[in-house]
Amino acid sequence: MSLTRHRLFIDGEWIEPAEASFFPSENPVTGEPWYEAARATAPDVDAAITAAHTAFTRGPWSRTTPTERGQMLSRLADVVASHADELAEIEARDNGKLLREMKAQLRSLPDYFRFYAGLADKVRGDLIQGVARDALNYTLREPLGVVVAITAWNSPLYLAAMKLAPALAMGNTVVLKPSEYTSAASLLLASYFTEAGFPAGVVNAISGHGREIGDLLVDDPRVAKVAFTGSTPVGRRIAGRAGERLAKVSLELGGKSPSIVFPDANFDNVATGVVAGVFAAAGQMCTSGSRLFVHSSVHDEIVARIVERARAITIGDPLESETELGPLVNGAQHAHVTRCIAQGVEEGAVVAFGGTRPDGFDRGWYLEPTVLTGVTNDMSVARTEIFGPVLSVIPFETEEEVLEMANDSEFGLAAGIWTSDLSRAHRMAAALDAGIVWVNTYRNESALSPFGGFKQSGIGKENGIEAILEYSRLKSVWVNYDDGDLADPFSYPG
Ligand code: NAD
Repeated sequence: MSLTRHRLFIDGEWIEPAEASFFPSENPVTGEPWYEAARATAPDVDAAITAAHTAFTRGPWSRTTPTERGQMLSRLADVVASHADELAEIEARDNGKLLREMKAQLRSLPDYFRFYAGLADKVRGDLIQGVARDALNYTLREPLGVVVAITAWNSPLYLAAMKLAPALAMGNTVVLKPSEYTSAASLLLASYFTEAGFPAGVVNAISGHGREIGDLLVDDPRVAKVAFTGSTPVGRRIAGRAGERLAKVSLELGGKSPSIVFPDANFDNVATGVVAGVFAAAGQMCTSGSRLFVHSSVHDEIVARIVERARAITIGDPLESETELGPLVNGAQHAHVTRCIAQGVEEGAVVAFGGTRPDGFDRGWYLEPTVLTGVTNDMSVARTEIFGPVLSVIPFETEEEVLEMANDSEFGLAAGIWTSDLSRAHRMAAALDAGIVWVNTYRNESALSPFGGFKQSGIGKENGIEAILEYSRLKSVWVNYDDGDLADPFSYPG
């Protein structure tokens, strides 16, 4: 049986890839391919960037007002809303995440477009007074130009929306390159912009392998900014190459986020929050709370509750409504997570639960939710981003000690604090070296709230008012309104 083929979406049309080459996308439940995506090569990259560049410099888009862009984004939000469940099913089939979760995520996706639709005509420059006599100085916020958006496989459309919505509201044009593991939904999304009335070339999407076309996208001098979500090593490479030609980047990268449990916390909520924070999406979340610091006085009780919850998790097909844990995205990821667990055990960690392929799941990329105890903060399982359902539990004695351990990581994406002591919560929130801190909750996100990490977790912010400015440049304009002669700089008074 021949598989459905998804082509490239360039300049408002579906296009055959230049080399007529396609690659399979696998369903992680079965390990079998379920569609083919176009494999873009250099001519396709050039065509997509040319379309975006032309749309930015010469097309009708370059003459739109911010209010018109906001209206288009509102229409796009409606189109996305009308396709939300269909897109959710495609994503769940592609990355193995729960259909329930993807539906919830995609039903909230229009909020991201609506937020920036509303913000489009609220971006302002400033008037700077007093710079000189009879002169004024003002600033203009301008779009950057062509933005290349490169995304990871774990939440393809969500990661794309966080980039496209502010970039377009600000007046940029976009080339979207989704992960080669999850191309279909992003290609479809690009076509919805045409349906919503965006001019051709404003949003283009090309599928293909990052290692084949990534450098071409990043190095092209017509690309003003690369907005990237993915692993830290690829993010560093992109930042280095973009830096060579001083192009802007924003990077949303990996994490090894700490959750910290104090003895005065609500233990039921801790168990719920910690389990959701590390086992949801089979742990394939950048913000996964994968390092759990527990006060030694409550360590055994907290571990027992988490193991009990982990044991009760229903593993299965992500499309089934009762499933709570689906497979990992592919065989390579499964092998990587399994290797990380083995190395942790070699270094002295104890498997309190899980660690292997669940009984009855001989095919697909399933792994049990895994709880490791006896972990110290210097072990590999506490330092490396595993990106799988693996929780490493580390005991602590004092607030100072746990703060030092929590911050002792190359990453700084997110952190969780579980306590009923308000002073301690604020003290810890201020002292934690993380871009997002959750107190007595975990994993909340909103289009309204800035999102992004510190240190090796990234550069820049997505979401919130701040994100639209990341897709702008600031120009300073000086105007002399003195009708007299200009002071001659070469003639000095006696
Ligand atoms: P990845 O870095 O392997 O791939 C991400 C994207 O980069 C893909 O589209 C890939 O094709 C592309 N790519 C690969 N090589 C490239 C190159 N040389 N030049 C340009 N692009 C290239 O990451 P992944 O495995 O898809 O995703 C998992 C990682 O993403 C994890 O580290 C996770 O923490 C991170 N992530 C971060 C966030 C966040 O918001 N901070 C969100 C989701 C995922």
